[in-house]
Amino acid sequence: MKRELEFLKTFCETFVQEGTEWICSPFTDTGFLCATDAHILVRLKPDESFDLYGIENKAGKVKDELFVQNCSHDISVSDIREAISKIPVKDEDEMIDCPECKGRGQVTWEYGRHRKSDDCPDCDGEGEVSTGKILKSVKQYLDCYIKIKDGYFNGKYVERLIDICEFEQVDSVHLLKSNEFKNSCFKVGRFDVILMPMVVNKNEFNTGFDKTVIEINLQP
Ligand SMILES: [Zn+2]
Repeated sequence: MKRELEFLKTFCETFVQEGTEWICSPFTDTGFLCATDAHILVRLKPDESFDLYGIENKAGKVKDELFVQNCSHDISVSDIREAISKIPVKDEDEMIDCPECKGRGQVTWEYGRHRKSDDCPDCDGEGEVSTGKILKSVKQYLDCYIKIKDGYFNGKYVERLIDICEFEQVDSVHLLKSNEFKNSCFKVGRFDVILMPMVVNKNEFNTGFDKTVIEINLQP
């Protein structure tokens, strides 16, 4: 269970602030080991022999209603992977100080006795130019929604379902609860997983919706 506990820690909130310190480390609630960052919650039943000493008990924090079943669908991890691969990416170029203005972003023009500072025309005043070399492609999670049945999610959290599948060495997740405005619930190996949806303004759909919706297939 040590391995499970370490894994649970990766789901905890990392930003410590007053009032939410309790989600910064795993805790127990009604016999489950739980971890959350308020967007995703994972829990599993620890082995009987596992020593829970030092793990805070937060009984009642994780409400039973989160897990009330309203559907039953399998989703293959390959379908989740495919959806994640469709998230738009933005290439980040390698940047160097602009040679023209030596990184200052400004150039000085001289004409006779007149001197005038202006934005550098080579870097548009940024002080940096691209070498043309792509350092990394960064997924633009907020440019799309991942739709699973009735819920719309940030792909960053849907990706964690893949992590749990790998940890549990299973190739599908089971969707047990789906709701557009409330949480969805998944069973992944030994883990119960709660995902909170993103609030989607449906008017956006009618008026030139600029975010992509990537829908994941459900198996009946
Ligand atoms: Zn410049």
